[in-house]
Amino acid sequence: MISQNIATYRDITNNKIQERQDLCSCQSGLRVRFYCYQQNCKIHTKNIFYCDECFSSMTESGQGHQSRMIHKLLSELKEKWMKLQELEGKTYHEVCFKFKAIQSMAEYLEQFILSSNNTFKGKRLCNDMANFHLFDSEFKSIFAEVEGYMNEDKTAKLYSFDETYN
Ligand SMILES: [Zn+2]
Ligand SMILES: [Zn+2]
Repeated sequence: MISQNIATYRDITNNKIQERQDLCSCQSGLRVRFYCYQQNCKIHTKNIFYCDECFSSMTESGQGHQSRMIHKLLSELKEKWMKLQELEGKTYHEVCFKFKAIQSMAEYLEQFILSSNNTFKGKRLCNDMANFHLFDSEFKSIFAEVEGYMNEDKTAKLYSFDETYN
């Protein structure tokens, strides 16, 4: 009984996810349900997503695609982003915490070195730190956008972001 309930709950969730996907590019008016995960597939290069109708015509014509349900990709992408976000946050806090302890000394030393040698090419911790702050705020704004797509179950959007950042 419990496993039946879990199965029903899973179906409802998957249907809900399904309803939130984009319409298929084939003009059937159906939403995409599958994606091709065949490596080096010549047809699914930019757009890997397709609907039931595309799926059955692909099966009938015997083309060698490897199809998987879209909600599986969605949960994988969500998990990846959550892990990445956690790692970024943890690293940022750790680095800031450690830098704080030496910040005034580092600033003083860098100013001193630069004032006596303006061709200094060595490591500049304060510069690196400024770049890291910049990276952190860029990451946070990207993640805010990604989070929106995660909440809306927008698999195709998340997938395109994943290719660029993850
Ligand atoms: Zn289609
Ligand atoms: Zn394919």
